[in-house]
Parts: sequence; C-alpha cells; structure tokens
Amino acid sequence: MSDRYSRFSDILGKLGSESRHRIIPAHRLRKGWLDLCSNDYMGLSHYDAELRCRYDREFGDRCFSASASRLLALDQDTHILLEAKLEDLYGNPALVFNSGYHANTGIVSALNLPDTLFIADKLVHASMIDGLVLGRCDFKRFPHNDIVALERILQKEAANYATVIVMVESIYSMDGDKAPLREIAALRDKYDNMLFYVDEAHGFGVRGESGLGLCEEYGLLDRVDILMGTLGKAAYSAGAFCITKPELKDFLINTARSFIFSTALPPANIAWSIVTIDKLITMSDKRRYLREISSFVRRSLDMPDNDTPIVPWIVNSAQKAIKYSERLMSWKILALPIRKPTVPAGQERIRFSLNASLCHGDIEDLIQAVNICRSES
Ligand code: PLP
Repeated sequence: MSDRYSRFSDILGKLGSESRHRIIPAHRLRKGWLDLCSNDYMGLSHYDAELRCRYDREFGDRCFSASASRLLALDQDTHILLEAKLEDLYGNPALVFNSGYHANTGIVSALNLPDTLFIADKLVHASMIDGLVLGRCDFKRFPHNDIVALERILQKEAANYATVIVMVESIYSMDGDKAPLREIAALRDKYDNMLFYVDEAHGFGVRGESGLGLCEEYGLLDRVDILMGTLGKAAYSAGAFCITKPELKDFLINTARSFIFSTALPPANIAWSIVTIDKLITMSDKRRYLREISSFVRRSLDMPDNDTPIVPWIVNSAQKAIKYSERLMSWKILALPIRKPTVPAGQERIRFSLNASLCHGDIEDLIQAVNICRSES
C-alpha cells in the first residue's frame, strides 16, 4: 500500500489521542429531544409552516441557482429586494454576501489599503482572523474586552496610520459575553481615522427592539462603520450582509474578492431570508423572554451574570466535554463539546445555545441535568 496519505492519517491519530478528533454529527432532531446546539436563537424553525406558506405564496417561483456571481448574474431582483429591506431597517446601505465567512474574509482583506492598521479583540471569530491573514494585513490584537488596552494601542498607533480599524463581535460566539460597544464608539468619536467594525453574527435577530442587534439596542447604529450580520443563525436561513456607508458599499462591490469571485446565493434562498427577517423583526416579546431565560439559566448554574443565549459550561478538558455531552444525550439533550482550536486548550466546554422556543420545563430539565453531571464528577 502506498503511504501517500500516511502524513494525514498520522495527524488524525494524534488528534484522536488528544480527544480532539472531530466528526460530523449524524444526529437528527427527534421529537422530544432538546436542541441546544443550533443557533436558531429565536426558535424560527417552529414557525416553519407559517413561513413556508408566505414563501410559497409570494416567492414560490424563485430560482434555485443564481448561476453566476452578483456582478454577472441576470436574476438579481430578489437580492436587490433583500438589500433594500435591510437598508430600510438600518438606515444605511446593505450588501449581501454568501455567508458570514465570505463577508468577513472579503471585507477585511478588501479594506487593507496601504497605511491601514487593524486592531482586533483577542477572541474575534476565525473568519475575521482569516481575512487579516488572507489580506496580509498589518494587525494587532488586544486582550478580550480590555478597553484600556485598546485605547493604549490607539494612543500609540493611530497617528502613524491613515486608517485604523477596530474589530469586535457584539456577542462573542463561544463565551456569550458582550463587547463594550459604547466605550469603543466613544473612542471612534475621539479618533478621526478610526473605523468601527462589528460582527453581529450572534446579535442579529436576538437583540434590539427590531432585532437589528446589540448596536441597535445601544443606539449605536450611526457610529458603526461596518456592521456584519449573518442569516444562518437567528434568521433561520443562510448568507450574510454588511451594513455600511454608500462609499464603502461601492468600494466593497469593486474590491471584496469573496463577493466578486463566488456564485451568488440562489434567489430562492434570498427570498426565504426576506420572509424570515419579516417575521424576526416582529418578535420583540420573544427577544425579552430569551433574555430572561438566559439570565435565569446562568443564575441557576452559578455562572457569571449575562443575558445572552450563548451559555458556556466550561469544563476545562476535552475528555470531560465529550463525557458530559454524551451524558446529556442520554437525557435527550443535544449540546456538543467545543474543543481546541475553536477554544484554547484548557477552556473546553459545552456550549448551550438557548432559544426562545424553550419552555420552563425544558429549562428545568437542563439545569437538573447539568447539576447531576456536576455531582457525578
Ligand atoms: N462570525 C461569527 C462571530 C460567527 O460565529 C460565525 C459563525 O459561524 C461567522 C462569523 C460565520 O458566519 P457563517 O456561518 O454565515 O459563515
């Protein structure tokens, strides 16, 4: 047998020995099971029939392929409709991307003009980091949510660059904590050459009166230069968008390689996003409920106070994370282990993604299950 592939198998073997070999889970959500791993934060999947009804009525004829990139495709009216809707909601131009990963990698690398410094929170998502690497950007990181350290970098560096771009997530994907957005916006007021880039992947649909994200909730929409939102999480669809200024939208259309060199999302998918977003913006009562249960779960499990639906149960070892995930599954609770490289070694966890369709009984079951696991260890 050729050992053509042995280098790859060796790496897989090493991952296995460190409890880090990952497989694509084959679970299907069965009746009576609790899904705490998907990012359907507003429980929109429970409105599937209602959403499909409107989709079929208004958009049933939409095509399942765009057949070309946005700059070449013929059938663009659905994309334009979605962008117009987002522009209407946010009050600034919107540009749709194929995914959050496409958006972050494409936008970040496009913004890398000469004399630009990027300053990113230590925990920003891999797609932002990949954008920095792909774009060969000059960048610095600041310790997570450390506004003093961020300001220190700005004081030292801002005058040496034409543009500095500060990058954060509004709600961090693996810890569920919030960025100090107001304080960073105040730094933007102070530094004329600073652009503020906020990834709202976990805020869109979940926070703000209309679900536009944490920047809406804090009244900061006018002070953010690039807001990236994803459509595959709370919006129960696929794709992503960025909200930005007219000059930057035009600039990105002309320079963001992930926008230019990839086939556009199918019009059918875009139409589905229009339908789900229309539902999402009406769900403010559900958003309040989700905040309440998120705080309640954390309080009940003696975790630091927070009201976002990402609840990390940090167990500090990959083996424990796997063991507890399996134990939870024995009670029909689906919550998967998160290991390196998604989180640093030693910070392995079960990440509970709460959603607005959970009832009080579900919450009690979850709390009881975690407490049993803790008492067994
Ligand atoms: N940004 C953050 C913070 C995320 O958690 C994700 C999630 O996957 C992305 C970007 C990428 O979004 P998408 O899944 O649409 O590619």
